[in-house]
Amino acid sequence: MTQVLRARAELRDALAAVQRPVGLVPTMGWLHEGHASLIERARLESSTVVVSIFVNPRQFGDAGDFTRYPRDEARDLAICRDAGVDVVWTPSVQDVYPPGFDTTVSVGAIAAPLEGAARPGHFDGVATVVAILFALIGADRAYFGAKDAQQVRVIRRMAADLALPTTVVTCPTVREADGLAMSSRNARLSPAARAAAPVLHRALLAGREAWERGERSGDRLRTAMRTVLAEEPLANVDYVSVADDATLAELDTVTGPALLSLAVGLDGVRLIDNEPLP
Ligand code: AMP
Repeated sequence: MTQVLRARAELRDALAAVQRPVGLVPTMGWLHEGHASLIERARLESSTVVVSIFVNPRQFGDAGDFTRYPRDEARDLAICRDAGVDVVWTPSVQDVYPPGFDTTVSVGAIAAPLEGAARPGHFDGVATVVAILFALIGADRAYFGAKDAQQVRVIRRMAADLALPTTVVTCPTVREADGLAMSSRNARLSPAARAAAPVLHRALLAGREAWERGERSGDRLRTAMRTVLAEEPLANVDYVSVADDATLAELDTVTGPALLSLAVGLDGVRLIDNEPLP
């Protein structure tokens, strides 16, 4: 039986009685197979699985992007029930940020480049809401997707620095058959943009292939990815990055673990994807 809870007090009472370990899967809803893979992993490792569904206004810079974010609670709850989730928390904005709320969790250098530079304030919003989720739910483990590569690094940093007792687990990116990384935002792609969208993964694979052929120059790897993106007229490139896997600092030369990543607009919908090396 899946319990669906809204108020903080209900959540606290329900969690007081559950069996440990507790696994938490934080989401913004419009659930897809990427989320399902996190839930499945949580199921395997936990006695109780909690899924939170909350479109967090603090992590959207653009109010329009927040209002346009896809939502379908009935469908999400059906997916959670089918997946054997024990507790779904679907709070209102006031349940997460009660009147008087006035604290921001701000992570340093790891949150600065890439998505942090493109979306000022985004990671403050993410870190703040995840800190609240960790505190309220007190999960033993929380599951995040490698698709949001910088996000998981920001959350790990925060959890370590604030000595939060929840272990952060990263799960692999789930893709459509044509390579497009699953994302709730894909629902907003026009038919033409959806047809163009696999170009992100193709560009990343071109970067990986160049690396496998022995290319180690950051610039030439970036060019290999940009060349593929340039073939797609709809693609509006935000950034193409070859960065150190741990620090996300841009690399002149790849000498160790690295992360290829990119952000591309397609007909007004901004998509991100990445490929770790090796
Ligand atoms: P979101 O609902 O987009 O905030 O995502 C909730 C969680 O699901 C985050 O940890 C994401 O990284 C993860 N996630 C989103 N898309 C995928 C995917 N295609 N594969 C694996 N995890 C994903």
